Amino acid sequence: MSAILTCKGCRATKPRPTGDPTDLFPSEHCGDCPPWTCERCGETCSATALCSCWVRLDALPLADIKALFACDGTFSIDPA
Ligand SMILES: [Zn+2]
Ligand SMILES: [Zn+2]
Repeated sequence: MSAILTCKGCRATKPRPTGDPTDLFPSEHCGDCPPWTCERCGETCSATALCSCWVRLDALPLADIKALFACDGTFSIDPA
């Protein structure tokens, strides 16, 4: 099992899973990134002021996120 934990924005790599969606796929930007302009909506984003695109991602139920990766079989976030 190997998850990709390297941020696409600043190349920072998480030392271990943190229980958020970036455990499952690399984040475009992380808390270490400087403010950036969102490619989708054009709003200025930062780690403390995310644009509406990220709010929508955060609202995705965890079950849906797990379902996205269930067919992959390379990564499991089940605690058991
Ligand atoms: Zn980053
Ligand atoms: Zn956006």
